[in-house]
Amino acid sequence: LELERLGIHESVAQVFPPAELADYLADLPVAVSVIGDDGITACDAVVTLEYREAVLEVDWVHSIQAGVDRFPFDALEDAGVVLTNSTGIHDRTVGETVAGYLLSFSRRLHDHVANQQERRWERPEWDAAFTLPGSTACVVGTGTLGTGVAETLGGLGVDLRGVRRSGDPVPGFGEVYANDRLLEAIADVEFVIVTVPLTDETHHLFDAAAFEAMRDDAYFVNVARGSVVDEPALIDALEADALAGAALDVFEEEPLPEDSPLWGMDEVIVSPHCAAYTRDYFRDTGDIVRENVDRLETGEEFHNRVV
Ligand code: NAD
Repeated sequence: LELERLGIHESVAQVFPPAELADYLADLPVAVSVIGDDGITACDAVVTLEYREAVLEVDWVHSIQAGVDRFPFDALEDAGVVLTNSTGIHDRTVGETVAGYLLSFSRRLHDHVANQQERRWERPEWDAAFTLPGSTACVVGTGTLGTGVAETLGGLGVDLRGVRRSGDPVPGFGEVYANDRLLEAIADVEFVIVTVPLTDETHHLFDAAAFEAMRDDAYFVNVARGSVVDEPALIDALEADALAGAALDVFEEEPLPEDSPLWGMDEVIVSPHCAAYTRDYFRDTGDIVRENVDRLETGEEFHNRVV
């Protein structure tokens, strides 16, 4: 694989200005430029947020996201295109976002913001606020996001358990369950936090049975992908008070449609798929690209290779 032209696809603008990344990588021994759809096939490699069929004609595609569920693995493989992703950089950002959701629920911050919009001086019910130390959370998926969430919540005194395929121990988690014991693992905790990739196996992993298994005073947090959750089943559970609430960064349809009942629920926090946002994002993802350009030069395997 000979790398002469590296394109930064304009779709990355949804996360940071493409020119910031182009500047950051300007010292690489390849020509780096910001490109639109019509510039893809003139490149050897493309850094992108969105998938375009034209990337089947380049040699290497780097996704600025960790989740690559929207890329067609078989077509890329058939076309001999290498796909790498940005897993490994979202531990602290997503960990802090999840800590923010939990602190909002425990300290009632979302109520205060809602009241402020109405210029309403209204204190919470005497028994609504609580503190996090000693509360329990189950993190489903113990990769970068999961361990970042565990580290951040662990610092706030939350008691953590994890769910992973093998069930083997992971630092930061008191107890780890194999994923065939998911319903048992989520049954008696106050927070369930989803951090698995979207795959055939995890599609609608959280369905009516999962919400039924959870405590009715438990909060559900999804920072993974919308389709890991059967969203109508979640809405039913919230409407039936079978859950205390939810914090959702990702949805089956994005942007979340204006008529979704999730927008209007007092105990639901909606964020627009930005749990991992940081002004350092272009540097964090740029470092992975730089590492792989270096590896190409020395003939080493790609870092974070998916296809
Ligand atoms: P990662 O590869 O580091 O971790 C994923 C973990 O999930 C791995 O440990 C894997 O073994 C595990 N896993 C896979 N299938 C499983 C299953 N069926 N049951 C239990 N565990 C399973 O990836 P990551 O960087 O932690 O990201 C995870 C996902 O989170 C991404 O694929 C992406 O969809 C999503 N994500 C969302 C945001 C956001 O902005 N909201 C940001 C980053 C990542």
